[in-house]
Amino acid sequence: MSEIIIECEETTCLICGADNPQKLIKLKDRLCGVPGVYQKVRCRECGHYYMNPRPKMESIKDCYPSDYGPYQPKEQATKAVPTVSEENLENISSAKTPWYLSRWGRAIPGLRGFYYWLTESKSEIIPTRTEISCQGDTPQGLELGCSHGSFLDKLVSEGWKVHGVELSEQPAKIAREKGHDVFHGTLESTNFDDRQFDAVFAWMVIEHLINPRVEFAEIHRTLKPDGLFIFSIPNSGCWEPYFFGRYWFTYETPRHLNFFTTKTIRRLLTETGFEPVEVIHQRNIFSVIASIGIVLREATPFYRTGSRLVQFTDNPSMWPQIFLAPIAIILAWFRQGGRITIVAKRKG
Ligand SMILES: [Zn+2]
Repeated sequence: MSEIIIECEETTCLICGADNPQKLIKLKDRLCGVPGVYQKVRCRECGHYYMNPRPKMESIKDCYPSDYGPYQPKEQATKAVPTVSEENLENISSAKTPWYLSRWGRAIPGLRGFYYWLTESKSEIIPTRTEISCQGDTPQGLELGCSHGSFLDKLVSEGWKVHGVELSEQPAKIAREKGHDVFHGTLESTNFDDRQFDAVFAWMVIEHLINPRVEFAEIHRTLKPDGLFIFSIPNSGCWEPYFFGRYWFTYETPRHLNFFTTKTIRRLLTETGFEPVEVIHQRNIFSVIASIGIVLREATPFYRTGSRLVQFTDNPSMWPQIFLAPIAIILAWFRQGGRITIVAKRKG
């Protein structure tokens, strides 16, 4: 990575356009080793946290090395609970059957439902046809940052016609090989029709956008009236960045350009023609585990414990998730989860 130079530029506030930043902490890439020192600032006018200076558009691609976690193929990357229909239960080989689907597990009333409730992080949502007012026709969905297309697979399995947009070439190619219609580039470069989609999805993508106001306007244009924009973002208003400081896993410098709070994302949505319908605090404690991992890795570089905790977020195993679930549920209940999922409706 040492030969890469990230070209940076000063920017005004990405929400209100003001040029009145308060300098906060300096940040560097503690995950992928992309060079450079970056700065988190707070807009004195609207309170939005953002990176300034930030990488120029032409340097953005260099901020995503080939070993970047979300681009690695993996099974059930964001949701560890397999969804298995009753009809298929009998077809699962006993060697692969998880305990909650085993014969004894199914014999205990409510055990499987309790397990699903306990470990459901609410990280991805597919609306019902009633929620998108699409009773007869095939619903059309668009996913921004679709990577290898695993969420597009889920939409297709539920009867959706799907399109994807992916900035990185290799994941886009893999999604296309699976049969999905995926555009390699930015949303502004696409030519989707006005009012084409019933829903637009973006999972942990908005914080990466160099100009979210422009992208939100484009999403608004392509959504049907009352269509839904459903996305997830890190919650920079929770306790984690204050507790972990520069070691907060979710800073993801220099890939995350915006650090939204519920207040600032609501403002951006309202100003770009959306009505925020629901803000869901995810039951997700992964960023806490990974942040502890980053602290340990820097304090004790000769031990692998820190790296293992950082990597836990990529492929979380089942039992640690079960033990951590009660903490995640309590934090979400107090609206202090590290990630939030937002459902917004196109107005007009
Ligand atoms: Zn501002």
